[in-house]
Amino acid sequence: MAINIDRLMESIFTLGNIGFDEENGANRMAYSKAFFMGRDYVEELMKEAGLKVEIDKVGNLIGTLPAHSDGNEMEKIIAMGSHIDTVPNGGIYDGALGVLAGIEVIRSLREEGYKNKHPLQVIAFNEEEGNVVGGTFGSKAFAGCKFEKSMVEPMNRQNITEEDFDSCRKNGVDYLAYFEYHIEQGGILEAKRKTIGIVEGIFGIQRYTTKITGKANHAGSTPMFLRNDALETASRLIVDLMDTVRKTNDTMVCTVGTLQVKPGAVNVIPGEVELVIELRDKSMTEMYRVVEQIKERWTDKGVEIERLIIQPETPCDNRLKEILKECADQLELDNIPIYSGAGHDVINTSMIIPSCLLFIPSRDGLSHHRNEFSSKEDIKAGGEVLLEAIKKVDGGKLNEN
Ligand SMILES: [Zn+2]
Repeated sequence: MAINIDRLMESIFTLGNIGFDEENGANRMAYSKAFFMGRDYVEELMKEAGLKVEIDKVGNLIGTLPAHSDGNEMEKIIAMGSHIDTVPNGGIYDGALGVLAGIEVIRSLREEGYKNKHPLQVIAFNEEEGNVVGGTFGSKAFAGCKFEKSMVEPMNRQNITEEDFDSCRKNGVDYLAYFEYHIEQGGILEAKRKTIGIVEGIFGIQRYTTKITGKANHAGSTPMFLRNDALETASRLIVDLMDTVRKTNDTMVCTVGTLQVKPGAVNVIPGEVELVIELRDKSMTEMYRVVEQIKERWTDKGVEIERLIIQPETPCDNRLKEILKECADQLELDNIPIYSGAGHDVINTSMIIPSCLLFIPSRDGLSHHRNEFSSKEDIKAGGEVLLEAIKKVDGGKLNEN
């Protein structure tokens, strides 16, 4: 069974055009005028597809196709979705794909006269990108995540109260599964010439503030053998860190993206450097091990390393992964297991619903950019995997053995 790819592409381009200009790309940040225009368009699409639409207090758009059943028993919901907000100067596929493909799957199923046993739902989570309130804000509210203090002020600016946030919480037991279909945003599928990535899980993140203390002194009169240059130490530490990460495994990524050099004058030897080490990987243990090794080698050289953020990895649901794999194989699509280095709404949904994530290639591994691109063929391929997977789950595949 096929989806109507031309209709799906048209909806991607129509939504993509809202808030888009050639020079900057897509600007549909959550709660902006363009965002609401985009959401109105998606709401219309949902209604045309026969979905009952609800918008919760944080702005998540939820469309439900009731079960086609004459029994009285309440069946659990099968959900698909992603987000329709963008980063500043973003692209048209990130997020939008998962929502619009979900709507297309339902349109195609209905046209075929398919009778769904479970309610089917498409969710457009709000503020996934985190440029306004905080990352994956909408799905945090949906999943009933803990309220974070940092949300208060930006929420107030949008006239959202803590009670509003709490009111969005859904009950996980009402759901059978959540599927998120997304562009890869990296270059692995393209490099390996694969069409479908079945996501094993989303990387955990560890961040450490690192302070390196040396001795500031005159840049001209202090000979090299008498110096304790904090930036030189920091440089050697960073190289050691990167080497250690490369030796540990081939999935871990490491970034030092900020550096503060004090006192910060061209003619003064740096006396202090502050930086943040960021590690992401599937294995929290291996990241801890890297940090231990670095501490062991550098703490007696004026280096202090302190935990800033620890966010555990999110494994995708095993049975749903198997179903996705089965569907991709049946459709004869080249597929591989893959990890996601980027965060997604699935991190939150998976706390209350068995959840999974499906990737298609991004050209040049590019995203969050106006040139972000995925091909029509790949979009169709992923859409059909999604459609087949929904049918399998709806048909009771999860209940087998
Ligand atoms: Zn996204």
